[in-house]
Amino acid sequence: MGGVYSGRFSRAKEKGNYLKPIELIDNIFILGGPEITDSRDGCVYLISLEELILIDSGAGWSVDKIIRNIEKIGLDPKNLSKILLTHCHIDHIGGVPEIKRRFRPKIYIHALDAPAVEKGDPALTASTWYQTQFPPTPVDVKFNFSEEVLSVGEKKIVCLHTPGHTPGSICIYLDLNGKRILFAQDLHGPLLDEFGSSLEDWDHSTRKLLELDADILCEGHFGIYKTKKDVGDYIHSYRRQYGVE
Ligand SMILES: [Zn+2]
Ligand SMILES: [Zn+2]
Repeated sequence: MGGVYSGRFSRAKEKGNYLKPIELIDNIFILGGPEITDSRDGCVYLISLEELILIDSGAGWSVDKIIRNIEKIGLDPKNLSKILLTHCHIDHIGGVPEIKRRFRPKIYIHALDAPAVEKGDPALTASTWYQTQFPPTPVDVKFNFSEEVLSVGEKKIVCLHTPGHTPGSICIYLDLNGKRILFAQDLHGPLLDEFGSSLEDWDHSTRKLLELDADILCEGHFGIYKTKKDVGDYIHSYRRQYGVE
């Protein structure tokens, strides 16, 4: 199943060409992902408020394209202040060392997923799946609580600890212009022992996400869901697939 852009995503893939970055709603962009930058990338989102905040960074091969896409939408990558990492897997963290080297954004991740990034652990980052290596990379801020709020001007970006896929997975949401936008990258799993996944945690986390009643879901691999009903249906479909409802 796919979100509203998934049809366009697959057509782009068939043609072997890439889509342009898209503004999903005022100030929120999709800059990268399987059909935008590189088939190995998890989706890369940008929040453009008083500062530029990236959510995830692709698998590492597409940093030039991600930066070019920031410029294409008329923004200056020098204003990148933060990268919020939803979890420690290579398709989400791979671009961090190079983006950090060029623009010095602060790197945020949950404390439970931080060691994999700091050690460049090949199993926990899943870099072996992608036949690559991830260099040990320091992070700047480690989340420790079930909910952490980042203030950007008047706006609040909420980082929720949502373990399940990995122990330190987070989901991020913010309310903008009357809409609640939820970034839930690998909400769909998979749940694997080698990732330290937990079905019990995942059940609890996805219940919390349903309670948010988000208007828009920005997913990590399958696109964007743009109504409350589509967001709910998406989460419920995986809850049924994992046998928790
Ligand atoms: Zn992923
Ligand atoms: Zn993952």
